[in-house]
Amino acid sequence: MAGLYIHIPFCKTRCIYCDFYSTASNDKKTRFINALCKEIAMRKDYINNESIDTIYFGGGTPSQLSIDEFKQIFDAIDKTFGEIKAKEITLEANPDDLTEAYTNDLIQKLPFNRISMGVQSFNNNMLKTLNRRHNCEQAVKAVATCRKAGFQNISIDLMYGLPGETIEDWHNDLNQAIELDVEHISAYHLIYEKDTLLYKLRENKQLKEVEEESSLLFFETLIKRLTEKGYEHYEISNFSKPQLYSKHNTSYWQGVHYLGCGPSAHSYNGNEREWNIASLTHYIDGIESGNRDFEKEIIDINTDYNEYIITRLRTKWGISLNRIKSRYGEKYYSYFLKMSLTHLNSGKLERIDDIIKLSKNGIFVSDDIMSDLLYIEE
Ligand code: SF4
Repeated sequence: MAGLYIHIPFCKTRCIYCDFYSTASNDKKTRFINALCKEIAMRKDYINNESIDTIYFGGGTPSQLSIDEFKQIFDAIDKTFGEIKAKEITLEANPDDLTEAYTNDLIQKLPFNRISMGVQSFNNNMLKTLNRRHNCEQAVKAVATCRKAGFQNISIDLMYGLPGETIEDWHNDLNQAIELDVEHISAYHLIYEKDTLLYKLRENKQLKEVEEESSLLFFETLIKRLTEKGYEHYEISNFSKPQLYSKHNTSYWQGVHYLGCGPSAHSYNGNEREWNIASLTHYIDGIESGNRDFEKEIIDINTDYNEYIITRLRTKWGISLNRIKSRYGEKYYSYFLKMSLTHLNSGKLERIDDIIKLSKNGIFVSDDIMSDLLYIEE
């Protein structure tokens, strides 16, 4: 059982907060699709004949591709791994790309069965500030279009802690999201990443970051509103209708192996992690010449332990004491017990049989707890 991630590095315009690798130029699109198909075929053995359980097209903006371009990619996947039997095949999409004709084709002519839509906000002023291409009306319409086309699994991304955002604004966004009755909601606090326009605007005092107190209130409100509406809070930033977790993203948190193709895509096979160069030109040149441009890290026991802590602490499945003992040995086991004790005593962590996980209060200070539990070699 493995995952396949495909990175589509094109965006019509760039959002001011984004540090994902993408380009607003389409010049190399045809060469990119050919290179991507070649990479898929070249890297067949990376996941050791494991069957592909989930496929995720992320980006960039994958909905910038045409139906024929997707067909070419699915053909390559088919030829490489055999007939596509993945349980979950997700397309990340921008609301304004989801016209009726395009959305119908996505489900009728291609194997997609899940849409993950970058809505971010239903407030038109906020959307303009972030330089998103769509407006609130387009986002609402896009969800309806997906439903009408037959998508039964729709996820939307929201952002909070936006410049100038009030708690009323956030309530309005949540009301709108709840009304859409989507299966899955991911909600992230806005981050001021270095080298983004957003960061520069803050440095130049052209916009102001929300206060820490408001950030906390936004997060509390998010959890309260969505859980009282029946959404399961299964990962710090992710909520779903019962059991309708993102299978692909959950597999990352559960250590499932995955192959990532396309510029900047990461791959993991249990022993090592690889990441392709974050440059479309270098990516294409490398694949065309048979010398893929990538970096690689061998995962030693310490990195493996730390990754296990980071990923599992974020989820409702928590950390298994047995797993720490059996996989990492006595040294890591006693370290974990020692470092988790204060947080267990303060009620920020809770223990249920073999599992230690964040409590309802601990979720608000998860970063601090996580850094205490990480093992830093001297
Ligand atoms: S559409 Fe997505 S990937 Fe593209 S710039 Fe905006 S946030 Fe980044």
